[in-house]
Amino acid sequence: MDVQIYQYDAVVVGAGLAGLAAARELTAAGKKTAVITKLHPLRSHSGAAQGGINAALGADDSTDLHEFDTIKGSDYLADQDCVELMCQGAPETVRWAERMGAVFSRDEKGDIAIRPFGGQSKPRACYAKDRTGLTLLQTIYEQAHREGIEVFDEWYVADIIYKDGKVSGVVGYDIRTSQPAIFNAKVTMFATGGYGRAYKINSNAHANTGDALSIVARKGLPLEDMEFVQFHPSGLGGSGILISEAARGEGGRLYNSEGERFMTKYAPNAMELASRDVVSRAITQEILDGKGVGVNKDAVNIDLTHLDPNIILTKLPELRELAITFLGQDMLKEPIHIAATAHYSMGGIPTNINCQVQKNADGDLVEGFYAAGECSCVSVHGANRLGANSVLEAMFFGRHAGESILKVIDDIELREASIEDAKTMLDELNRVKTSNGLERVPKIREELQNSMTENAGVFRTAESLNKEASIIRDLLDRYKNIRIDDKSNTFNTDLQEAIELEHMLEYSLFIVEGALAREESRGGHFRDDFPTRNDEKFLKHTYAYMDKDYNMTHEYADVTLGKFEVKERTY
Ligand SMILES: Cc1cc2nc3c(=O)[nH]c(=O)nc-3n(C[C@H](O)[C@H](O)[C@H](O)COP(=O)(O)OP(=O)(O)OC[C@H]3O[C@@H](n4cnc5c(N)ncnc54)[C@H](O)[C@@H]3O)c2cc1C
Repeated sequence: MDVQIYQYDAVVVGAGLAGLAAARELTAAGKKTAVITKLHPLRSHSGAAQGGINAALGADDSTDLHEFDTIKGSDYLADQDCVELMCQGAPETVRWAERMGAVFSRDEKGDIAIRPFGGQSKPRACYAKDRTGLTLLQTIYEQAHREGIEVFDEWYVADIIYKDGKVSGVVGYDIRTSQPAIFNAKVTMFATGGYGRAYKINSNAHANTGDALSIVARKGLPLEDMEFVQFHPSGLGGSGILISEAARGEGGRLYNSEGERFMTKYAPNAMELASRDVVSRAITQEILDGKGVGVNKDAVNIDLTHLDPNIILTKLPELRELAITFLGQDMLKEPIHIAATAHYSMGGIPTNINCQVQKNADGDLVEGFYAAGECSCVSVHGANRLGANSVLEAMFFGRHAGESILKVIDDIELREASIEDAKTMLDELNRVKTSNGLERVPKIREELQNSMTENAGVFRTAESLNKEASIIRDLLDRYKNIRIDDKSNTFNTDLQEAIELEHMLEYSLFIVEGALAREESRGGHFRDDFPTRNDEKFLKHTYAYMDKDYNMTHEYADVTLGKFEVKERTY
């Protein structure tokens, strides 16, 4: 098949909240913009967000307090200038969504309702029942359409065109037909979302395979703070499907098999509403101590039966349905089983405060290349993200990226692409399609996911991480010997899953090697062999690089501090 070449002012990869927010701004300003997405936009994982979006709207709340909570929650690793920009912009971001038509739940006075979330000093999660992400995604998709965005849905992006420090578009193929194409543009933006699928127990959509990360890393560009993975305290027992923090925000209590409300030991003040890393470790510790519930004793109970049933029926209907469907447990009548689940990735493609991608720890920039949302690391979450700050990040920084791009795009010259630019991807497609080895993609993926949950999960040691690094290198070796059966050009999911698996293996190595190098415990990263935070050595962002033989090197960059002093973190 001949390679098609399209030309745009801007291409945005990803149609979740971050990608659509940026594309809407660009299109509204008259820039010819393509949005490329491997899913239908409304299937993006943003639509699964349940609990809310933070904004300091309460009468006794302030953006300063939101900033403080975010920085404390991050275990002081977030860049304070970026946090300030986002938290100050949060109320306006929520109003912007509301003006576009998002229907938020209301309080008795008719104002946008706010609920408490973990690690926040005040209730500030604005929500639409427990379907906040879906409401926002539908609204912004409609409005982006109204501006005339051009969407290439069910297109898979497999490479960027990167030469002489400049990105001039992406290379991808149509999943329906395998038709390859080059999307040549002045500006390229990645908004490809999270990558929790590296773990067996995770809350993420099947599509969250971190493609963009390894696409970027293969060019010798760094990834930032990859060791920080957030384990959410309440995944449904056995599967990890998310039971939103709203369940604890509305008053859910945690009990072990002995009926003990164990958070009294771990966070006597904040209890169930301590930040996520603290609660996840508490749950995992109880299970390790043999105080788990369920047949495999691998969960604890969350109890909401003391609440007014109307709260569950009106504010948490989807959570109730999920527990009935997947566990056969009705939270109106009985406690339900939950355990920590890999949920969110704090690390990603490093960017400056204006979402422009950085090529090293000194902050030098890649020309014409932007990233926002969960795939990026601007760093507003540092070592641990607070609930309801990520939908905010995606909306706020997505829009901010669009605005930043608009300031420069007219001065950027389009570097014309040629068919040659598609060579790397075509070689990859051909290699996978004609593969005829002995290894199977699902088997390697399963071994990766099981071992990541076991060795690079809530608790880590040098021993478990070294073991995991060698498992991944071995799996990468075995990957060279795969075979896929589907050789066709129509909806070839075998092909796509094989490509995604290689991405998963590669970015998992960043998670593991970053965790090994960081000999301290901070936020979501907990080392049994280095159980305390070490600011002297590690109040730093990790920038990690991978070479062709999967050797990794690390550089460290200073955290941008500000008005909030670095302190011990207790809840
Ligand atoms: C179950 C769940 C509940 C959550 N609840 C909340 C919450 O209540 N509050 C909160 O703040 N946060 C929540 N989060 C986190 C938050 O939803 C996400 O971090 C955020 O929505 C990510 O948005 P995004 O735009 O960066 O990416 P996404 O919405 O994940 O979109 C990624 C896009 O990239 C595209 N893409 C990826 N790879 C490729 C490729 N190779 N080629 C083409 N396209 C590609 C996909 O098709 C998709 O359109 C939750 C997350 C989960 C999993």
